[in-house]
Order: sequence, then C-alpha cells, then structure tokens
Amino acid sequence: MIQVDALIIGAGPIGGYLARKLCHAGHTVLIVEEHDQIGRPFQCAGLVNPGSMEKVGLESTALTRIWGARIHGPSGTLVEIGTPERTRTWSVCRKLFDEAIVAQAISAGCSIMLNSTPKNTSISEDYIITTLSTDGGELTVKSKVLLGCDGAHSWVRRYHRMGRVRETMIGFQIDVTGYQHKDGKLDMYTGQQIAPGFFAWAIPTGTTTRIGTFSRPDLLGEISSEETLTELLNHELWKDRFEGCSEVGRYCGPVPAKPVKKPALGRVFLFGDAAGLCKPTTGGGIGPGFTHVDNSLELVSKVIESDNINSNATDRWARQIIKPIMKKHDRARALRDFFLTNSTDEELDSIFRVWARPEVIELIQKYGEIENPVPLGLKMLKDVPEFRRIALRAANSLIFA
Ligand SMILES: Cc1cc2nc3c(=O)[nH]c(=O)nc-3n(C[C@H](O)[C@H](O)[C@H](O)COP(=O)(O)OP(=O)(O)OC[C@H]3O[C@@H](n4cnc5c(N)ncnc54)[C@H](O)[C@@H]3O)c2cc1C
Repeated sequence: MIQVDALIIGAGPIGGYLARKLCHAGHTVLIVEEHDQIGRPFQCAGLVNPGSMEKVGLESTALTRIWGARIHGPSGTLVEIGTPERTRTWSVCRKLFDEAIVAQAISAGCSIMLNSTPKNTSISEDYIITTLSTDGGELTVKSKVLLGCDGAHSWVRRYHRMGRVRETMIGFQIDVTGYQHKDGKLDMYTGQQIAPGFFAWAIPTGTTTRIGTFSRPDLLGEISSEETLTELLNHELWKDRFEGCSEVGRYCGPVPAKPVKKPALGRVFLFGDAAGLCKPTTGGGIGPGFTHVDNSLELVSKVIESDNINSNATDRWARQIIKPIMKKHDRARALRDFFLTNSTDEELDSIFRVWARPEVIELIQKYGEIENPVPLGLKMLKDVPEFRRIALRAANSLIFA
C-alpha cells in the first residue's frame, strides 16, 4: 500500500497545477493518469489567457500570440478589434502545455502513475482508501484527500454521486493547413447554421489553424456538431477562406460550463472540468480551473492536516469558494444569452451593425476582456443608445443570474 497526503485523479492541466501547489505547501502527492502519456488525446482550442499563463510561466509552449480578432455577424458584418501591443490570449500546443505543467509538479516532488485508473474507494473518518487498476495489476493507496481532476466525464464525480454539471456545450474542431488568417488575429463566426446560439472560430496555431464550432445539444436539435462545422466550411460568405485548407486532425468534446452544486464531499474534492468550471462565454476551462485551485488550497491543506474533519463545514466552505466563480459565470452567461444565445440571426445582425460603429469598437477595445466580458457588456448597455432601450430586460437577466 502506498500512503500519500493527496491522491489526484487525472494529469490534465488542472491536476498538474494542483499537484505542484500542494507539493509547494509541503504535502506528498500522487497523480494517477489513465493514458500512457500526458496531453493526449486533447480536445481544446488551446487558448490560454495572459493571467493564467503568468501563473505557470509557459510562454514557450505558445504557437501564436493572439492580440486581435475579426468577429463576423451572421450576414457578414465585420467587427475588427485589437492592437499588437496588447496580448489578448496565447494559442498554445496543448500537448506541450500539459506536459510542462505536469513536469513542474514532478519537479516540485509529486509522483505520477500512468496507465492507471481508480476502481473503488472507501472513506474512513481520517483517510480514504482507493484501489487502483494499474498496468494489469492492482494497487491500494491510502490518502487524506481524493481530488478529482479527471475531466468532463469525471469518475470521481460519478462514483461519489456529487451531482451533475448543469450546462454542457459540445465543441467540434479540425486542424488545417492553408487557412488565410491575419497575423495575430483569430476569426470568430456567428449564425444559427454554423453555431446555434454560440460561435465558430479559426485560431492561428503556428503553421496550422484550429477551426471549430460549439453549441449546446438542445440548440443543435437534429443536426450534429460535425454538420455545423461543414456548414461553416461551405458557407456562402466565407467558403473562399477554407478552400485551400487540408485537414490534419479532428477532435470533438464536451465543455462543462455550469458547476456541480457539491464540489466537495468530506475528503473528496472536484476541480477543473470535473467540477464543471468552463466559462459559459468562451468555453475556456484552464483559467477558471487555476483560479479555483488557488482559492481552494487553504481548505484542502486543512483537511489533509486534520484527522477529524467536520464534513458539513468542509462542504459548506468548498461551496463558498466556488460561489464567486459561479456568480461571475452566471452574470457572463446572462449577457451571453442576452446578446448571443437567445438572439435570432436578424437580431444578431442588428447587434453587429451597432458593434461595428467606430465609437462602439472603441468601447470594445477599451473594456473588452476575454476573461471577463461583464464590464464591457454593462458599459454597452449603459452607453450605447440602441442597447440602452433594452437595458432593463438585460438588467433583469443579470439580477436573476
Ligand atoms: C473543442 C474544445 C475547445 C476548447 N478550447 C479551450 C480553450 O481554448 N481554452 C481553454 O482554457 N479551454 C478550452 N476547452 C476546455 C478545456 O479543454 C478544459 O477545460 C481543460 O482541458 C480542463 O482541464 P482538466 O485538467 O480539468 O481536464 P482534462 O484536460 O480533461 O484532463 C483530465 C485528465 O484526467 C484523465 N482522466 C480522466 N478520467 C480518468 C480516470 N478515470 N483515471 C485516470 N485518469 C483519468 C484524462 O486522461 C486527462 O488527462 C475546450 C474544450 C473543447 C471540447
């Protein structure tokens, strides 16, 4: 039997980041990963915002620095934003990024077992026993905490009946060569045919481009997300951009974007996609996952150091920690629904015509943050006459978010 303070299931970016932080706090950590390598397979557009990049210092894994965007309305109205001086986000190689995060954890003292999965756990008052299936054999691990960083389909969440993620988008993406993008700018496309209620993207990734689309299953109806991508590639307005492209890879995956109600159950905690922490606006999960880890460290350390925890108090504390992130996401979701998800193409076209005006582009340049769209949304509702008329309706959605 192996004995550690923390057993982490899943060596994705959130598991790796959490492992490093716990090692630095003086705890012994084992990460268990089901695959035989880190960072494969991945389902991600690879955007990492500057704040999150700063936390791991992995600019070396970036393929392109993104400083601007061309955003297209359903009928082609173009909103072009960004200036080269301000990095808006990084487009990384997820394989290199995940590997480097896990390498940082290993350098900090963490152990790792590949090709391994948990089979069952039993929880006692002062420890947890987990049986692992590993390379055809079995191994028992005794730990003070069990930390589920095992992604959208989390075994830890399901095994411990920690509830359901309350909104999940689905993303479909291909890697291509030959797409004509503008240096340092990503492209976003909208319209019910190509991304019902959401948007599609083309992100420069060094010598290739990631082209993807995401939506919610209830909005897709009878069509698959793969079909929405085909619609984008054949779209009357934009097909010229895709004509010379050759596909070199494809991925599809869930984007869990409304957290579980119970992120902790005594000595068991959920993080990252396992907790349902992706942003409802962009689908980005790395930034909120890192923030949640940072905010939870004190609590997890306390539980590790205690032989006798009050489960109810721990669960309450864990809910308090996730609440501000949830609140921020709920407000962003309300604005997303208001400006994008609940708009018809005609309504969206008229919103784009307003966004494309020079004074509104100036507002977007000044207040637009991929990480936090709420200040820009509120500013637009307040300052743009066309939106002021509908501000009351928007305010209601925000208040009740
Ligand atoms: C199409 C698409 C595009 C996206 N684009 C972006 C983006 O641009 N930026 C961004 O920030 N986010 C993006 N996301 C979301 C992002 O990929 C996730 O939020 C992020 O990977 C979450 O990290 P994680 O460590 O929680 O989970 P994961 O990255 O899913 O890692 C979980 C790890 O756990 C392992 N695992 C799972 N089950 C077990 C088990 N039972 N036993 C052992 N190991 C297990 C997996 O093999 C994996 O290594 C996108 C998602 C999709 C689908």
